[in-house]
Amino acid sequence: MLPFKINLDNKTVAITGGGGVLCSEFAYALAECGANIAILDINLENAQKVAGQIEKINRNAVAVKCDVLSRESLEEAREIIKDKFGTCDILINGAGGNSPKCTTTREYLFEEDINSSEDIITFFDFLPENLRFVFDINFTGIFLTTQVFAKDMADKKDGVIINISSMNAFTPLTKIPAYSAAKAAVSNFTQWLAVHFSKVGIRVNAIAPGFFVSEQNRALLFDKDGKPTARADKILAATPMGRFGEAKELLGTLLWLCNREASGFVNGVVAPVDGGFSAYSGV
Ligand code: NAD
Repeated sequence: MLPFKINLDNKTVAITGGGGVLCSEFAYALAECGANIAILDINLENAQKVAGQIEKINRNAVAVKCDVLSRESLEEAREIIKDKFGTCDILINGAGGNSPKCTTTREYLFEEDINSSEDIITFFDFLPENLRFVFDINFTGIFLTTQVFAKDMADKKDGVIINISSMNAFTPLTKIPAYSAAKAAVSNFTQWLAVHFSKVGIRVNAIAPGFFVSEQNRALLFDKDGKPTARADKILAATPMGRFGEAKELLGTLLWLCNREASGFVNGVVAPVDGGFSAYSGV
């Protein structure tokens, strides 16, 4: 059930990371509103599953294997989508994620950890290639995808781009400095793009989700028996609403930002959907 419906008949939507937990929900919602949906994902099998579900409700979808870090792959995807549905009207930049190799074991660096031989990862252990991986998948991917897809939008002077940032862009989360910084870059770039494209009819905004359970963070939030980890308890204590979000709770913001009548003068915002997490100082 959608919170409300908007009319996207004959519109073409491209969603990167569309095979994932959050963006597959976006894909179903926008399909229900009548749009033709292109699911772009490095994991073709998952993209196909989502496209298959959309076809079951008699809407149009295409699954495209695409690596947002390869311009060539993005250009191929753009041509496939153009042939099938026409040029893109709405781009959702959803592909993203973290790496355990860029996650410190502890929240703080303690004196005894500095030269510890224990099997823990500290800030000093991060390798440049791991840092680059996290930055690239979250930031460079959005940069390249927008370069490839926004040209057609600029040509027709009409387009909506929605980037998926995170509440950790406002204040970094402990343990995941690269992911936090990359998402801060996503929010910053959202503002830059909004200004840059403001004369050619393209609005650019971002959604900053709080904590939603997905494959990406499941191991951080639940132990093997499905009990919340100490970190999950901490998150819940820092979320005034006291629970994790459900993917469907992002849909109202998504539909609002996609709809010109509702948000035609909204440009360059990063909208938190986080149960109050980013508003709460902890006291
Ligand atoms: P997810 O892992 O379920 O989805 C991410 C998708 O991106 C996957 O389908 C993956 O295959 C795809 N992907 C990864 N690398 C790619 C590449 N190089 N090219 C194309 N596709 C690629 O994660 P999710 O939780 O649904 O997250 C979606 C977005 O929301 C991400 O940007 C994430 O950082 C952000 N986010 C999630 C949460 C949360 O709590 N789940 C919170 C804040 C922000």
